[in-house]
Amino acid sequence: MKNESARAQLKNKQRIVIKIGSSSLVHAETGRLNLPKIEILCREVADLRNQGKDVVLVSSGAIAVGKAAMGLAELRTLKQKQACAAVGQVRLMLIYQKFFSEYGHETAQILLTKETMLDETSRENARNTFEELFSLGVIPIVNENDTVETYDIRFGDNDRLSAIVTALIHADLLMLMSDIRGLYTDDPKTNPGASFIPVVDIIDDTLMEMGKGSTGSSFGTGGMSTKLAAAQISTAAGADMIIAESEDFRILHRIIGGEEEGTLFLAHPHEFYLMDYLETM
Ligand code: GLU
Repeated sequence: MKNESARAQLKNKQRIVIKIGSSSLVHAETGRLNLPKIEILCREVADLRNQGKDVVLVSSGAIAVGKAAMGLAELRTLKQKQACAAVGQVRLMLIYQKFFSEYGHETAQILLTKETMLDETSRENARNTFEELFSLGVIPIVNENDTVETYDIRFGDNDRLSAIVTALIHADLLMLMSDIRGLYTDDPKTNPGASFIPVVDIIDDTLMEMGKGSTGSSFGTGGMSTKLAAAQISTAAGADMIIAESEDFRILHRIIGGEEEGTLFLAHPHEFYLMDYLETM
């Protein structure tokens, strides 16, 4: 019952953060951009804007796209990864800008670092920028600023980064789109008996345990455990969260329309201090 009524409420969400994993943007065989897929994504997001909703896209893929562009089979060093992120980030933005402008929308690039999020003034500036972009009707596209991050102070995965953005801008829905259909009682790749969980009310220790050891794809960094960490942050900050499969991005309007897709984590807003959380990361 809780699931049904929460699903029916999704159409009323006003501020939505949509996180796209690297594997959802590129062809698995070549690592190059899957253009028809990205075009459908942009059309879906543009339509959410047309409905008057504020939308943020948190897009991974900079490193994967840069690596393919440079024809590198493997990235061995941090500086190689950072150089590929620098190449890939502009390629990604170019494509987003092209498709969104075809649908009549402006985009903006916001690259965040953990360090800037830890600093109160920078955090406030980032929040103000988001607010201003929303009032201008622009679609912000966010990624971690991989080129300047150090290994010891970084988010490291866009699942948690997108939840932090959700908390920062007081969004009411976070959608994590990847090659995973949602949450299962066990890893479905290794246990055929694993059953699908359509809704999660309370995130308890048993649930957190289920996410451990699950595998991600060869492109992104997040497995199920980073998605559950994202669920903890966003639901505490007052946003519902969905994990759903991005094979066909038309799933976005089906989810907003209340269709039973993916796993829905229900918001349990309580006093949530972003700063306290960031310091424990
Ligand atoms: N920031 C990384 C990139 O754009 C991806 C991080 C992730 O996969 O979560 O390549």
